[in-house]
Amino acid sequence: MHSLAQAASPYGRGFLEKRMDEHSRTLINRLASEHALDLDGYEYLIAHADAAVAAELAVHAVAVRQEVYGTDVFARGLIEFSSYCKNDCYYCGLRAGNRECERYRLTPEQIQECADTGYELGFRTFVLQSGEDPYWSDDALCSIVRTLKDRHPDCAVTLSVGERSRESYAALHDAGADRYLLRHETADPDHYARLHPPRMSFERRMQCLEWLRELGFAVGVGFMVGSPGQTSATLAVDLKFVERFKPEMCGIGPFIPHHATPFAAEPAGTLELTCLLLSIIRLIHPPVLLPATTALGTIDPQGRERGILAGANVVMPNLSPGDVRAKYLLYDNKICTGEEAAECRGCLGARMLGIGYQLVVDRGDPAE
Ligand code: SF4
Repeated sequence: MHSLAQAASPYGRGFLEKRMDEHSRTLINRLASEHALDLDGYEYLIAHADAAVAAELAVHAVAVRQEVYGTDVFARGLIEFSSYCKNDCYYCGLRAGNRECERYRLTPEQIQECADTGYELGFRTFVLQSGEDPYWSDDALCSIVRTLKDRHPDCAVTLSVGERSRESYAALHDAGADRYLLRHETADPDHYARLHPPRMSFERRMQCLEWLRELGFAVGVGFMVGSPGQTSATLAVDLKFVERFKPEMCGIGPFIPHHATPFAAEPAGTLELTCLLLSIIRLIHPPVLLPATTALGTIDPQGRERGILAGANVVMPNLSPGDVRAKYLLYDNKICTGEEAAECRGCLGARMLGIGYQLVVDRGDPAE
């Protein structure tokens, strides 16, 4: 078992240049043709990853992504509408125990204004994201979703508001929400317990994901790369979970420590390992919608471009009002907290063109 946080790990300093071993080559070819490996295969590929393995995986992943989505990149307009949270996840700057965090809630009118601005800029998917904030009743959220769909019937609405009851999810789906993001964080129960306080439950998280699937949402899972306690073995379990669950979306980004959390002194995840996993996930499930996350752009100025070139096909520019962006800090040094929505859209559009891809005006539904 290889601890990804160990100083001796290649993941801490980026991948080393060396020749790919034959077993890695065999595993990559199997993954590309069968879209699956056994647990040992995933673990071996991660534990023996180097620049050559990453490059080979990226070539396959980009070819597969090209087949399914061409060079289109979908933009999701992110509206971070509440920074209140009742939970205390050890890795997150919005945790209830962080007294430094400036809390805010947007009004329903402000949320609609963000979406209207986004629509003008060409966004056709809105992601409404918040901490787990009990202030937002089902009625309040359903009303926001309904208004959004009435005003912009050609748009998809994605919710990312955490764990709720099955009844709540059902009401939100009936109100018109199309998609739901709920990162599983880790598919290993012991690792889950290392990242969350005892009153949060791995079983409950998995149950919520099953409910969302049953109710007809397009479901997004995901995890941080390089989180404390993560190993090549726990990552293999994550990949096996993705293989089984076949999520419509999978958000992975590097762990970045936040100074006011129990993990403040933990090392960040790396660009290299994140990109390697993006490539593997593309190969496991070719139609998956895979964002090149803001966290990836935070640890490296070219991070989002590198993510796309590893097989990602989604970016999530921020549509939140400028005066609240710096308050929604899941981790330190988050980028794009000073720009307006139009600047973010323009910047990302130019970045994609710079690598031969284009941001499209499209809901960006998952391919069949
Ligand atoms: S990760 Fe989500 S649920 Fe956990 S503390 Fe942060 S905002 Fe709250």
